[in-house]
Amino acid sequence: MPQDTQAFRMRYRAGIHPRYSPWLHGGFVLAYGALCLFLFWRTLHRVEPLEWLTVPLALVLFNWTEYFAHKHLGHYKHRLAAMFYKRHTGDHHSFFVEERMRYESAQDWRVILFPAWLIVFYSVGLFVVWWLLAQINGNVAALFCGTMLAGYLSYEIFHACEHLPETHPLARLPWISHMRRLHRIHHRRDLMQMYNFNIVFPLMDWLYGTLHGESEPLRRGSSNSSPRPRLLACLTLAAAAGAILGALLMNAGDTPWRWLHWICKPLATLLILRLAWTAQTAAPRYRSWMLRGIVLSLAGDVFLMLPLNLFMAGLGSFLLAHLCFIAALSGDTRFGARPLPWVACVGYGALNVWLLWPTLPSALRVPVLIYVLVLATMGAQALARAWMHGATDDGLRSSARRAATGGLLFMLSDTLLAWDRFHAPLPLSALWILASYYAAMWMLASSIRETRRA
Ligand SMILES: [Zn+2]
Ligand SMILES: [Zn+2]
Repeated sequence: MPQDTQAFRMRYRAGIHPRYSPWLHGGFVLAYGALCLFLFWRTLHRVEPLEWLTVPLALVLFNWTEYFAHKHLGHYKHRLAAMFYKRHTGDHHSFFVEERMRYESAQDWRVILFPAWLIVFYSVGLFVVWWLLAQINGNVAALFCGTMLAGYLSYEIFHACEHLPETHPLARLPWISHMRRLHRIHHRRDLMQMYNFNIVFPLMDWLYGTLHGESEPLRRGSSNSSPRPRLLACLTLAAAAGAILGALLMNAGDTPWRWLHWICKPLATLLILRLAWTAQTAAPRYRSWMLRGIVLSLAGDVFLMLPLNLFMAGLGSFLLAHLCFIAALSGDTRFGARPLPWVACVGYGALNVWLLWPTLPSALRVPVLIYVLVLATMGAQALARAWMHGATDDGLRSSARRAATGGLLFMLSDTLLAWDRFHAPLPLSALWILASYYAAMWMLASSIRETRRA
């Protein structure tokens, strides 16, 4: 053991109050936590399947809270949490270092567990949240607060297990032994501000790019500056799922769910806009046209979503969006460079319009026809561009393929929308239309990445 760790341990132990009882400390936290869980559990009454969704959502929120508090308050000095910083970086990380992770006597639990009053403080906050949420839905309130409390207990238990002696049977359980390895890396003084902040499940570490296993080479300094496409992808997926779920439940006549749809639908497109905004690229012109197209699509989303008759405004916004996408896609590839995609895309669009013509309201016939022509042009140009770059392999191949996939998915999404709206309602139409739409937008936005000037 390094001398200074040994000296710190002696100093720390000498400072522990003689009446301190580790068994009372740990026992109180567990018993008090179990009591709170029981109180929340008791209020549950006939939980609906959708209400159970609260549990995974609260687990994700707890995982983020654990990550955020540990990283930003435990490892960076902050005025509001000076005591936590001192206890964590000052005491805990001086007491336990990579080579010396195990505690030696029960007295040492004092430097592992949070102070006993913290769970009382935390639970008071949760009871306030429970009371507020219970005004809307009692089951959601109890499931949410119960899960957040279970998260706290799991943190205490896992963290204690991560400092158990190697030979302890609990330390050899599969998941715990994995988290112990990650936590040992976190206890390296030179890495503690960079990696492995999750204690129970490394979800946020994975999303934020701060997960570091034993076998990987070190990526020093990259954790804070790199963009976080995984996080953005998961957030977009969650928002898109919320928009789809809200639309499905709204169509089933359950009106409060429309709020879920109204919040998540533009949110998902905003997140895609952020992906486009932060993408590393050497082609600023391509990006700026793509950005304009995504902003116009966002406007179109809002027009089509509101319960007002704004179909023409929505159609117009998307029409302008496609013109922007066409401008982006024509920057490095001559407009109409390959005739075959044109024949295919315009032919496909014309066939759909022809089949839907009898049921199209007469006032919409001309605007829809123009829209279909512009959309088919966008798809055709994206395909032609992917074809050109695929043949030359100038480093744009995969980016052009993503854009072409986006163009085709956009055509698919609008075909489904048109048949649902102007022919007959499709089963679960919101799922197919929105899923293909968001996939299309994601592909178009991610085509900005790695795009080089031709
Ligand atoms: Zn630790
Ligand atoms: Zn730490």
